[in-house]
Amino acid sequence: MIVVKFGGTSVGDAAAIERATDIVRGRLARQPLVVVSALAGTTNTLLSIAEQAEKGQLIGALRGVEGLRERHLAEASKLLGDREAGADVAADLSAMFDELASLAEALSVLGHLTPRSLDAIASIGERLSSHLVVAVLCARGIPAQLVDAGDVMITDNHFTRAEPQPEMIAEATQRIVRPLLESGATPVVGGFVGATSTGVTTTLGRGGSDYSAALFGAALRAEAIEIWTDVDGMLTADPRVVDGARLIEQIRFDEASELASFGAKVLHPSTIAPAVKIGIPVYIYNSRRPEGCGTRITFDAPRRPVSAIAGKRDVALIRIRTPRMLLAHGFMRRIFEIFDDNRTSVDVVATSEVSVSMTIDDATHLDGLLGALMALGDVSVERNRGIVALVGAGLGDSTATMAQALAALGNVKVHMVSLSSGGINLTLLVDGDQVLEAMRRLHSSFFPVSQ
Ligand code: ADP
Ligand code: ASP
Ligand code: MG
Repeated sequence: MIVVKFGGTSVGDAAAIERATDIVRGRLARQPLVVVSALAGTTNTLLSIAEQAEKGQLIGALRGVEGLRERHLAEASKLLGDREAGADVAADLSAMFDELASLAEALSVLGHLTPRSLDAIASIGERLSSHLVVAVLCARGIPAQLVDAGDVMITDNHFTRAEPQPEMIAEATQRIVRPLLESGATPVVGGFVGATSTGVTTTLGRGGSDYSAALFGAALRAEAIEIWTDVDGMLTADPRVVDGARLIEQIRFDEASELASFGAKVLHPSTIAPAVKIGIPVYIYNSRRPEGCGTRITFDAPRRPVSAIAGKRDVALIRIRTPRMLLAHGFMRRIFEIFDDNRTSVDVVATSEVSVSMTIDDATHLDGLLGALMALGDVSVERNRGIVALVGAGLGDSTATMAQALAALGNVKVHMVSLSSGGINLTLLVDGDQVLEAMRRLHSSFFPVSQ
């Protein structure tokens, strides 16, 4: 059994869905569970529909709904024609768009958007795409069966960033998906979407379909998890930022996980954890070039000082100063408890005797966080920072890498550096508007063109 996940661009239009169909067909002997994202751009449009509706801009919101409807129906008609299968799917998709339009109308009346209603809207993209993909697979002779994500991806009720419940997911997946696979069917499920144990729709956070794929892979103890996307695999940097980024054919789980956390969007940061737990290899492939070798993420990839560079903007630095810290044991625990209470994770930490500096990339709960931290000392916040990270399993072996990195950055101002011995990443806090330049400079130093 394997899990085959197609990202938004890999099911973005009729041609992409045909390619995905061929990829699935080529893997039928390995009993694939197919996980699909929404058609590229759909989730963004859905979120903006919700936002417009909340602001009372109903006409704009409904225009957005109609745009999505036309696009989905046009692709469905290219794939399935307008008769029989095509007409059935068009009716199913249209019913979902009617539901979306009613939701938008209700929101515009209420003028208030809750995370729960946002998830009800955001989940529609994957409901649409999974429906369409099932119909196309069936029309092409593959015995596809739709699985409702809400029946198998059980989560807590933290809407818009729900926490999956692996034991319940494993139980539901074994009960619902495994028999389908064993009977020779090809189950298809929408990624990103889940439901609470009482059946209320949730989502796993942006880019969460990768995470869905990994959770289902772990639940099925799959032989492999394949992530099909729009780049050849994991590259030495984001190719949209750095010219000449190169394919990494093999990378270690921990390196891939760090890269994802520090901005390599090709993989959702939580994807690796379920796979690594049972040692399921994760592959990243380009659905436009299925013959490529892709990237294999495993335990035993070669150990390099630097495997890749990642970066992210919109990072905030929070600094707490207090002379009390000097002798107080348990001080750090209290700080981290506050972060925990406010559901915010810390990326990089630096301490001195009288201060602690921490970076976060999710400012959703910043106000609550700051309010609570102020009880511990003087708190200051620097926004508009960014992080660049060099990742490599052998990075901590020598400080030469750090020296080379700082030299490569030249006049890019570095506010904070973090490197642990035996660690696998060197993180540098820079100004947000210098992140891209810093990535380029580091890449040309560590991956020179002639290499
Ligand atoms: P999907 O819709 O298939 O999930 P995403 O847009 O989420 O695709 O992720 C793929 C994108 O990730 C690529 O187009 C690329 O711009 C970006 N990316 C960022 N860092 C990397 C990296 N190190 N290697 C490959 N792609 C990366
Ligand atoms: N469709 C969702 C998003 O755009 C999930 C995903 O594509 O992974 O965030
Ligand atoms: Mg993605």
